[in-house]
Amino acid sequence: GDEKKNEKVYKVGVDTTYPPFEFKEGNEYKGIDIDLINAIAKDQNFKIKLSPMDFGGIIPAMQANQLDVAIAGMSITEDRKKVVDFSTPYFDAGLTVVVTKDNKSTKSVADLKGKTVAVKKGTTGAKYAQDNAGKLKIKVVQFNDSPAMFQEVSNGNADALIEDYPVISYAIAQKDLGLKTVGERLNGDQYGIAVLKGENQDLLKKIDAGLANLKKDGKYDEIIKTYLGE
Ligand code: GLN
Repeated sequence: GDEKKNEKVYKVGVDTTYPPFEFKEGNEYKGIDIDLINAIAKDQNFKIKLSPMDFGGIIPAMQANQLDVAIAGMSITEDRKKVVDFSTPYFDAGLTVVVTKDNKSTKSVADLKGKTVAVKKGTTGAKYAQDNAGKLKIKVVQFNDSPAMFQEVSNGNADALIEDYPVISYAIAQKDLGLKTVGERLNGDQYGIAVLKGENQDLLKKIDAGLANLKKDGKYDEIIKTYLGE
């Protein structure tokens, strides 16, 4: 009836491919972020539609009112807090340096001097590399998606890459990419679900309430277990 017609469907920005958080299997999107936002929407009784795009396009799309929400392994940062509001954190992550398995000379970020480092556009990894390019004396090359960035190091076009450790660890465990992580984590950050700052405050309240319910009733743990095991 008319009620259905007027029901708001929130557009949710997700990364194109960021396993275990989001990835396409056949025609279907799967992953921790996908299951979480679906479970939150169900718990809080709102409708969503996924909108996969390159990570770097997500915040601009929110600002252009093309998206209502983003869940994309997106780290909560002070910079982003100027334009979006974040939910309570839902996952601990952080950046790590990645090189080929046979690389014996790179043991930490300090060993990257004079090297080419691949990053993904718009990410905290890209910001870290750009902010430290002068100090570390690295050349930074940017990619639109994580698989392209991994490929660049696997095939020897770049010396290293910077990626969130849960994502690169998962990728390495799934498939022999010829890559390994090295050194200490470069930071410790946390993922949050974003809505445009000052807008959608009611929606943000629902997201937080839904997230809290999923954590309480075991559904959150179940989702994590589905993708990451015990
Ligand atoms: N967590 C990183 C960030 O927020 C990377 C996210 C991603 O590549 N999807 O920038």
